[in-house]
Amino acid sequence: MSCCHHYDFVEGNEHVFAVDPTAIRFGQGALAEIGHDARELNLQRIALFTDRRVAGLEAVATVTAALRAVHVDVAIYDEVRVEPTDQSFQAATRFAAEGDFDGYVSVGGGSVIDTAKAANLYANYPADFLTYVNAPIGEGRAVPGALKPHIACPTTSGTGSECTGIAIFDLLERHVKTGIASRLLRPTLALVDPGVTHTLPANVVAASGFDVLSHALESYTAKPFTQRPVPASPGARPMSQGANPWSDVGCIEALRRTGEHLVRAVRDADDSEARHGMMYAATLAGIAFGNSGVHLPHGMAYSVAGLIRDYRPDGYPGEEAICPHGISVIVDAPSVVRFTAHASPERHLQAAALLGADVAGAGPEDAGEVLAGCIIDMMRATDMPNGIAALGYGQADIAALAKGAFAQQRLLANSPVAVGEDDLQMLYRNANTYW
Ligand SMILES: [Zn+2]
Repeated sequence: MSCCHHYDFVEGNEHVFAVDPTAIRFGQGALAEIGHDARELNLQRIALFTDRRVAGLEAVATVTAALRAVHVDVAIYDEVRVEPTDQSFQAATRFAAEGDFDGYVSVGGGSVIDTAKAANLYANYPADFLTYVNAPIGEGRAVPGALKPHIACPTTSGTGSECTGIAIFDLLERHVKTGIASRLLRPTLALVDPGVTHTLPANVVAASGFDVLSHALESYTAKPFTQRPVPASPGARPMSQGANPWSDVGCIEALRRTGEHLVRAVRDADDSEARHGMMYAATLAGIAFGNSGVHLPHGMAYSVAGLIRDYRPDGYPGEEAICPHGISVIVDAPSVVRFTAHASPERHLQAAALLGADVAGAGPEDAGEVLAGCIIDMMRATDMPNGIAALGYGQADIAALAKGAFAQQRLLANSPVAVGEDDLQMLYRNANTYW
């Protein structure tokens, strides 16, 4: 179990952690209840964000019908880009700004939910695009105030975006993924309906499922909140506050369910117990990392996805090269856990056990290898790419990948082990192939 010394208090360091939950309703049929919520929030005219693929699915029809049944005016924007960019965020913002909406609904994966967050922000508080983007890439300025109500309806069991105050995008001219982070971006309500997972392609379930795994694992192994200095004021406490006793609860259960359900959910679309189990794991992991923050695998994933040249995975629409978020994360994770295990071997071993590994006889010195081996076995069982080489990267790309990851200081600050650009190069080299 978690070591009793994990949150030892240190003079001058943080003693307080925050719990900023999103209101959630979970269960089959939850989407059809949205009319009740729109009324309660007194919404008259809603912008519904989705993407082209999801627009044709039952979830959008269910939500639209439920809203119109209570006489809410719904305008649908189905041009959200999967893996959004600064340009696609700005196109969505124009739609939001011109429509005079009093609330937002997002129906889709993380790309859709993140786009609704950004459109809600910039339509309410117009500014140059880089104003609110994380420093050092953007100005990192604080969001000025509350946004309009946003009801998030996830249709993949992955991102947990419905529970977080983060919106991620590709900044095209810099070839880098970055984001906007503020508690004020957090959706007002999440309606999580596991029925939406029945029609997902296997590769989408796999990619989003490994995103769940990594959210839980990174939150659980993040730098403990007690290792941060006391903030200058309560308002300066970072949203990514580090591992804490609240996020641990969600991480442990998310890891256990992921170990039980991920491979099954990928292999059999009719295994609704497994697909629903992954939806719940995604929600738990989203609550956890929305309160603790992730670290190196996500920091490294930004440049893996941002610099992709010609990778086109099964199950994703469009002709463009794309690296699904969960794939860009999981190809880094085994390399990272081998590197971070010494910071909290008991947590790394416990994570492996929760995922289903046999840890009998394993000591602290084995923790990184046992956990990496367990993740690799799950990747192989679900036909994930064998490291970054399988995504088209080679030795010549290592420096650019590391440079992009080093720019993700918000995430690197949450790492249990301090990293420089040289360390990141080593981590990418060790993520080249795994089997
Ligand atoms: Zn993620």
